[in-house]
Amino acid sequence: MTELTKTLELKLVDPNAHKRRKLRETREAYQHALQDAFDARCTTQTEANDVVVNYDLSGYAKNALKQYVPQLTTTYNAGELHDDHPVRFTNEGLRLDHKPENGIEWYVKIPHHEDYHLWLPAQPNPEQRDWLEAVNAGDAEMGESRLFEREGTWFLHVTATRDVEECSGESAEERTPIGVDIGEASLVKVCHRDDHGSPTTPELWADEGKTVRQLRKTYFTAKRRLQTRGGERIVESFGDDLWNQIDDVFHRVTREVMEYADSVENPVLVLEDLTYIRESMDYGEFMNRRLHGWGFAKLHAQIRYKAVEKGIPVETVNPRNTSKECHACGEVGYRPRQATFTCTNDACWMGEYQADVNGAVNIADRYLSRESRSREHETDDDSAGDGGRLTAPQDSHADADTQQATRGTYAS
Ligand SMILES: [Zn+2]
Repeated sequence: MTELTKTLELKLVDPNAHKRRKLRETREAYQHALQDAFDARCTTQTEANDVVVNYDLSGYAKNALKQYVPQLTTTYNAGELHDDHPVRFTNEGLRLDHKPENGIEWYVKIPHHEDYHLWLPAQPNPEQRDWLEAVNAGDAEMGESRLFEREGTWFLHVTATRDVEECSGESAEERTPIGVDIGEASLVKVCHRDDHGSPTTPELWADEGKTVRQLRKTYFTAKRRLQTRGGERIVESFGDDLWNQIDDVFHRVTREVMEYADSVENPVLVLEDLTYIRESMDYGEFMNRRLHGWGFAKLHAQIRYKAVEKGIPVETVNPRNTSKECHACGEVGYRPRQATFTCTNDACWMGEYQADVNGAVNIADRYLSRESRSREHETDDDSAGDGGRLTAPQDSHADADTQQATRGTYAS
């Protein structure tokens, strides 16, 4: 077991004037308290406490200051303070909530005063979706968070940690690729080839797909009915309940995908590259094909984080034509019915085949044809960098670095 740490980047989406004012108040109080405790050269938590206790801040910000100021004065022996320190909160102060039924799916609770907090919609870095799923499922722990503003936009950076298994040392050639196809009808399809190259033990979750479709339908029907009667609050609690049920189904399915992978020797899970799908499909097509977007991203993210947790490598491949090509000869065929794939190549022995399995085998095969793009490495490297930065002496510089990365990845 090793521990992975990552800084999760969240952009707070358009806080209204009232909430902006509250955020600014928090920042001002925090920076005054920090400056005061620093000027007083507090070297212990008790000394820092005596100073920060007088400020109108939440206990989470005060506790963070009590830990941070003695570090500045003793460990780093800092001479002066940068004027744009982020507001720190200890881990208990923050909460994350997921509402996939909303346009903005994620919400964060930010402490303001002693018993007053703000819930704000937040847009995460899409590359970190797997981490958010892990945090949301209680499989990763949130640590300290930092709140800051850059050019009028507020950001929250949250440290998160989780335990993962080391990947076994098998080289890429020795692994058995398992194609994982995520779609609407049967939520997930998995298949791999046996030692002789024949597709074997396909598994799909058609009943679960049906359950999810029904739950979604119930939600949208009820929403329409209730909204015309002005029952926004009922819609919300009803919606939360239904979407939690859907999430439970997703977690069960993704756990079973891991069991499937565990039953295969030296497995590598092969997924379609989500970014590529977004770029290559028009929005309407994407929404129709992929459970209206969110389901695909959620399942994808859950599979990713659970695989890393178990030490099973994950690769992504170009998804182009994975459902349209014949896994035996590579020709583009067609689907006379949703469930059937037909190869149009006269020289190919295959003819008709189960469409779900054909797609999953094609995804697995792309791993071998080297169209895959490893992201595993990125995830591993990240931990040391971010973990180190958090406690580095030039803290405001570190934050500037992180901020650069934020802009580069998703803030533009
Ligand atoms: Zn064929």
